[in-house]
Amino acid sequence: MIDRFTTIRERMVQEQLLARGIADPRVLAAMGEVPRHLFVDDAMRARAYGDHPLPIAAGQTISQPYIVAFMTQSLQLQGHEKVLEIGTGSGYQAAVLSRLCEKVYTVERVNTLLAGARKLFDTLRYFNIVAKLDDGTLGWPEFGPYDAIIVTAGGPEIPQPLVEQLADPGRLVIPVGDQDIQNLHLLIKNSGKIHVEQLASVRFVELIGEHGWGR
Ligand code: SAH
Repeated sequence: MIDRFTTIRERMVQEQLLARGIADPRVLAAMGEVPRHLFVDDAMRARAYGDHPLPIAAGQTISQPYIVAFMTQSLQLQGHEKVLEIGTGSGYQAAVLSRLCEKVYTVERVNTLLAGARKLFDTLRYFNIVAKLDDGTLGWPEFGPYDAIIVTAGGPEIPQPLVEQLADPGRLVIPVGDQDIQNLHLLIKNSGKIHVEQLASVRFVELIGEHGWGR
């Protein structure tokens, strides 16, 4: 999409992603394409491509571009996958994923956020994203298993329903820790075995639900 933010978006890709080691060309292309400024409030458009997270409605945040790229890259998407996202928020992460896989299922617990994200998916013609209102710590069993799962809020542990709904082979990325600071965990399922790696220290909003923090 060519818009007045194209140059600034290209600079974001070069300076914040490529220069810091994001190497997957498909991830770089997707982040160069999705109009991030449309996923934030009008008043924050000018800061949309800055090297930081930004507030969205309902006290939530859209992650820093580098974190979106880093988490996305860790899923190693090729294009044929079915991906589940927990925490739709602004819809930005789902939009990036939608450029890189076959279909995105995304779950959000705050109705106003879900409504805003759905509208954007429509406007931008990202027709391979479906979204629903629910407690995402329960996953979305009817469409599983998923080749990749990404959780964009931090919880005390990896929700068991998500591990069960992950395909084999499959990759799941989630921030796990306390309410202030978490460690980005990458769970890899392969040949019936599960392996967990810790990738980086991160700060996300709370994952609230049955297998997250209580309400
Ligand atoms: N991926 C989003 C980031 C949003 S912040 C983006 O690109 O903008 C995390 C989101 O997770 C918030 O919108 C919050 O409401 C949501 N969330 C927290 N707990 C949840 C749960 N159990 N199920 C679904 N969504 C949840």
